[in-house]
Amino acid sequence: MQTLSDAFGRAATDLRVSLTDRCNLRCSYCMPAEGLEWLPDDSVLTDDELVRLISIATGMLGVNEVRFTGGEPLVRRGLVDIVRRTAALDPRPEISVTTNALGLARNAKALAEAGLDRVNVSLDTIRAETFAEITRRDRMQDVVAGLAAAHEAGLGPVKINAVLLRGVNDDQAPELLRWAIEHDYHLRFIEQMPLDAQHGWRRDTMITADEILAALEAEFALTPAQEPRGSAPAELFTVDGGPATVGVIASVTRPFCGDCDRVRLTADGQVRNCLFAREESDLRTALRAGASDLELAQRWVSAVAGKLPGHGINDPSFLQPTRPMSAIGG
Ligand code: SAM
Ligand code: SF4
Repeated sequence: MQTLSDAFGRAATDLRVSLTDRCNLRCSYCMPAEGLEWLPDDSVLTDDELVRLISIATGMLGVNEVRFTGGEPLVRRGLVDIVRRTAALDPRPEISVTTNALGLARNAKALAEAGLDRVNVSLDTIRAETFAEITRRDRMQDVVAGLAAAHEAGLGPVKINAVLLRGVNDDQAPELLRWAIEHDYHLRFIEQMPLDAQHGWRRDTMITADEILAALEAEFALTPAQEPRGSAPAELFTVDGGPATVGVIASVTRPFCGDCDRVRLTADGQVRNCLFAREESDLRTALRAGASDLELAQRWVSAVAGKLPGHGINDPSFLQPTRPMSAIGG
């Protein structure tokens, strides 16, 4: 089997598949209140096209983990079936979804039965008014219900991803952690990255990992977890002696590019070898022109071979990618 290797000795085994660029929330760090110009329907891969590309990645290129994301993956009709077909592949990859959890309460059981292994739910606050301020929708209770349903359906460990914004929810880290621990959810804070459509991110106002840890340490005793971090982006800490843990994903201030094992497929069939890549490799056109599995696999290999050593956010010459996070697949 070939692998998706690059010139720096890394192999991509973790495939992030964006199922749609559309979303039913409008998180301020992700997209503007009015939403974005969505991809035209005919440019979005069909279920069959998607499953074919995933089967090439898992069957021919060494990918062993598939995470569905977006936009909001739960708004994609056919998600349960896509999960079922992915779970039927041989070798079968680990399958997870990153979601805002709107509608998860309705779907968690069916997703688990279809073969979904885990979910990551995005939740930045446990105060309804702050949730509405960040996401511009008053839907926090739906997320809370979705989390409970995921836990109940065995989609664990249920992880929560939280972004802290200065002056909005940066005073709420300890209460979110306390709530997550009470409910057996594994909380990870993610540093805000320059991936919003509005280009509003600023290095000097983002909340850093150091600040997140200081805020948590004011109320909890954190000890670095012993196990080696490997390619996992989160630095893990045990909370008050454990067993609970909290993670910090410091993509900006403590980049982990050297250990990156990810590759991305956008909803319109473009391979991206990094969230911050400035180039994409088009698989959709070749796929629709009748390319064989082997040809598509070769294109994929070339796309990853050119991966740069790092994202360069901290370089003066850094340029934000043209597509926002919601279109790339977070
Ligand atoms: N809609 C789904 C969700 O929110 O979980 C999946 C897509 S979303 C783009 C994936 C993750 O990216 C979420 O956890 C979200 O919080 C995170 N995210 C979005 N914009 C971000 C940014 N500018 N910096 C850091 N994380 C961001
Ligand atoms: Fe939607 Fe996720 Fe972006 Fe929020 S972070 S607007 S839920 S895609």
